[in-house]
Amino acid sequence: MNRNRRNFLRFALGAGAALSAPALAQQWGARRPMPVPQPAGYRRIATEEAWAPRTLLDAWAKLLETNPADEPGFVALWGNLANMGRFTDRLAELGQARLDDMNAAGIDMQVLSLTAPGVQVFDADTAHALAVDSNDELAEAVRKHPDRYAGLVAIAPHDPRRAAQEIERGRTRLGLHGVIVNSHTKGEYLADTKYWEIFEAAEATNAPIYIHPRDPAPAMLRPFVEHDLHRGDLGFGVEVALHTLAIINAGVFDRFPRLKLVIGHGGEGLPYHLYRLDATWPVRNARMRSAEPPSHYMRRNVYITNSGVAWEPMVTFAQKVLGEDRVMYAMDYPYQYRVEEVIAMDELPISYEAKKKFFQTNAERVFNLNDARENAA
Ligand code: CA
Repeated sequence: MNRNRRNFLRFALGAGAALSAPALAQQWGARRPMPVPQPAGYRRIATEEAWAPRTLLDAWAKLLETNPADEPGFVALWGNLANMGRFTDRLAELGQARLDDMNAAGIDMQVLSLTAPGVQVFDADTAHALAVDSNDELAEAVRKHPDRYAGLVAIAPHDPRRAAQEIERGRTRLGLHGVIVNSHTKGEYLADTKYWEIFEAAEATNAPIYIHPRDPAPAMLRPFVEHDLHRGDLGFGVEVALHTLAIINAGVFDRFPRLKLVIGHGGEGLPYHLYRLDATWPVRNARMRSAEPPSHYMRRNVYITNSGVAWEPMVTFAQKVLGEDRVMYAMDYPYQYRVEEVIAMDELPISYEAKKKFFQTNAERVFNLNDARENAA
């Protein structure tokens, strides 16, 4: 095993990354009592919470054995799945163990999505079949625990028509709440007009599309791997920021004005770049320029979550530049299962009303969570 792969496994399995509630309590117990988030008058809804069915993890392992030439980032990132033991157990779990972890961390609800890179590393037919199966399994878990779980529809973007049909099925027949896209598909972005049927279906069914990071697209992967920066350190954020701006620049939101996009990790740096993106917008090539400056869409169509970034300066800055209706809470379970981060977010120096938006009501509105609960009642 090379050094990069070993480092990734250490990251994936690292301290606090995927510990169960009892293991976490034990870790804390040696020093002081494990902190428990107190009832705060709002529901804590975590919006970027990962899962993966066993069938997908097995299919990944088989694909990795072939060392696929068109998926160099996947190979660099996921390496040897056999070594990921406890971590993959947590991903596949949709029953009591996950609920116990949520209870111990004061999380009322998880919005679940198929972990990156999901089905997008496979050929079109395999990817579609795996997406359909995983959506069925997720919908079953959501039906069993409608107050604790919500779920996003996984799609295989390779075939946009089938993907659009799966969005329709997921929203109307399975009762799921949005769409998960694990960034690039074979190096391509949804900005390409050939994928716009996906946006059409998402807008028509009021399904927000969550673009979650994966390894950078093959055409830009090399320097990231060379400098060991292809993960959550930098590569993930650059990949999704580029994907999001490509969608804005292509005029997707001019064509689909009611479409909602969600990105995590503090908006993958975009709030911080907003001023310069607008300043350089007038000199952009007219063929690659949205009707309005990027900040217009960032404040009308895009929502961000704080997955992986339980950091007061980021949350309050994003609320200031995008608006407090656009920033949502996420834990990034099981990758970042850290109870102390929940408490840190409870202690944000903002009003109770702003905190309730952050933890609860923004997510309810963006992911149509109350519709689902009313239907289930
Ligand atoms: Ca995540």
